[in-house]
Amino acid sequence: MTLPLRERLAAPGPSETLDPQDWDEIRAQGHRMLDDMIDYVATIRGRPVWRPIPDEVRARFRAELPRQACDLDEVYREFADFIAPYATGNVHPGFMGWVHGGGTAVGMLAEMLAAGLNANLGGRDHVPIEVERQIVEWTRAMFGLPVGASGIFVTGTSMANLMAVLVARTAALGQTVRQHGVGGDGALLTAYTSTAAHGCVAKAMDLAGFGTDALRSIGVDRSHRVDVAALRAQIACDREAGLKPFLVVGSAGTVDIGATDDLQALSALCREQKLWFHVDGAYGALGVLSPALAPRLAGLENADSIALDFHKWGQVPYDAGFLIVRDGERHRAAFSAPAAYLRRETRGLAAGSPWPCDLGPDLSRGFRALKTWFTLKTYGTEKLGAMIERTCALAGYLQARILAEPRLELLAPVQLNIVCFRYRAADADSNTLNGEIVSDIQESGISAPSTTMLGGRLAIRAAIVNHRTDVVDIDALVAAVLEFGARRSSGGLTPGEPSPPLTM
Ligand SMILES: *Cc1c(COP(=O)(O)O)cnc(C)c1O
Repeated sequence: MTLPLRERLAAPGPSETLDPQDWDEIRAQGHRMLDDMIDYVATIRGRPVWRPIPDEVRARFRAELPRQACDLDEVYREFADFIAPYATGNVHPGFMGWVHGGGTAVGMLAEMLAAGLNANLGGRDHVPIEVERQIVEWTRAMFGLPVGASGIFVTGTSMANLMAVLVARTAALGQTVRQHGVGGDGALLTAYTSTAAHGCVAKAMDLAGFGTDALRSIGVDRSHRVDVAALRAQIACDREAGLKPFLVVGSAGTVDIGATDDLQALSALCREQKLWFHVDGAYGALGVLSPALAPRLAGLENADSIALDFHKWGQVPYDAGFLIVRDGERHRAAFSAPAAYLRRETRGLAAGSPWPCDLGPDLSRGFRALKTWFTLKTYGTEKLGAMIERTCALAGYLQARILAEPRLELLAPVQLNIVCFRYRAADADSNTLNGEIVSDIQESGISAPSTTMLGGRLAIRAAIVNHRTDVVDIDALVAAVLEFGARRSSGGLTPGEPSPPLTM
């Protein structure tokens, strides 16, 4: 009875497998893609940082679900013509917006290798998981955390911060919280961070079920570091009111201006008050790789957990967020969950417990560790540290250019690699004017700064994260701000009207 089916399946004819009919053809196509992509990165400086997406290009991505097969070559041409030219621009040395890493050719190649293995790092006994454990161990050593610390790759620091809140929650309320929910006890828990903390900390409190009201935003000093005395007072006040403080989130590199809290003071306070001390080190934590910057991160080694992104200052291609927890037991207590179909063994493919799925919400997970392993091994931490230090030196150079130019005004002290400034104008027009200048520069393709608000003033914000950024890119940004600023303030353009292209 099963024979006819077997015969039918084994019969020669067009195959249903997704493998190519002709491996030589795909090999040639693959080599072309590889060459093109290497050229793309190697010659990136010659192209605009970013360009506005033409309507007809955007419209191409509102197409019907493809039912019929199409030649890879044709699909690839669509990528080359309509996707690659309209990317964010963070590979480009002129990209200084938000906090974006530039990626590397090494990371790109590692991504291809990882895709070929198609490893699932949720669990089971295979070396890709050992590679991830190797990165956990390296990260532990990098930050001076004790043996027994536990870590995991995640999408980004937003996710790592959420997971840290969940680990701290389980540590505070006990593992029964996972069955019963946060309940009445949970309603009393309060967490603390500064007004300069990233918005994902509040979002984490929301997602964890505490609500953002349970997060106290403590004021900062002129350099955007949390006011530790005010924090202490707020904790005492909350205890007085019958609340249960459980978590303090410090920042190592704030998103607005790159400030780092006094991590030593915060860790001492947390130890004394028996609070979980988490550090959002999204981009700043990797400053430990630079001997010049590391002293500013003193106290990081006392953290109960640290969130960071290898995809920012670490230049690993997106995405490569990471959470490390000092006490691995507490990390597992927050996420491990038995399931019959995930049964562990002492031998065979189901060995090697605990698995990464015991350390976070994800079961299926990609091989983010590989591109990070390639990056750390190929460059070494000394070179990465020097590259990080250089981005700060370039920020210092931009600061010097601003201070020497009467038409520009520095809006915040430069502490790491982020510079906030504006083109001087009457206060009433300044925010609109500087917003227009940033849009003009982005649309010009010369550079890509972003904006932030500092004390009600809109700042042009340049975050030097990309390892490719050089002195000429800083000069180009300054020249563009001055040129567009002059055009805009001469009154020749109304707000919202695009500025004609610049020839520089
Ligand atoms: C980028 C950043 C985040 C968010 O990290 P993602 O990787 O984008 O999720 C959080 N905090 C700070 C300080 C950041 O710079």
